[in-house]
Amino acid sequence: MTQTAPDAQPDTQSRLDLFIDRMVSQRACLDFAIAETAAQRGPIFELGLGNGRTYHHLKTHVTGRDIYVFERAVASHPDSTPDDHQLILGDVRETLPAALDRFGATASLIHADLGGHNREKNDAFARLISPLVEPLLGKGGLMVSSDRMYFETLEELPLPPGAVPGRCFVYRR
Ligand code: SAM
Repeated sequence: MTQTAPDAQPDTQSRLDLFIDRMVSQRACLDFAIAETAAQRGPIFELGLGNGRTYHHLKTHVTGRDIYVFERAVASHPDSTPDDHQLILGDVRETLPAALDRFGATASLIHADLGGHNREKNDAFARLISPLVEPLLGKGGLMVSSDRMYFETLEELPLPPGAVPGRCFVYRR
């Protein structure tokens, strides 16, 4: 599959515009992925807890599935902090391979929002972790990412209504 470098940032968009587009796109893509995978029982993996907003969204809208959060340093809102048994603490470069040993290819939904403000660094990190994320997704599972991923076997899906191209990406096994 041909895959390009991160999308250029349009000069006409402010950081506020970009932030709003990212938030709106995350919600649209998460809602789409939650609905598409609703019949599956495999665990959900949230990569990057941050403030915990997207974790809280998952927790609020998903039933009947375990949600595990991968984070190197917890600093979330108290309402959005997972219990210890749901938290996989450490650098994803180490915890994702360990999760493959523990869970196998069973995840029904993986959401990644690991990036910071530097788009080149985010792209390099997405390239690095793509092969660590890819084997965790179960058959029919969906992966939602704020950064373009570089998968060998997953199909990139069209974005759902409301999502802004380049601000979120959806992949299916
Ligand atoms: N989606 C979150 C929310 O709605 O609040 C925001 C996530 S924030 C942008 C990114 C998070 O990823 C940070 O908490 C950071 O510590 C975490 N992170 C970044 N690189 C990581 C790594 N290599 N291993 C584990 N966590 C990482």
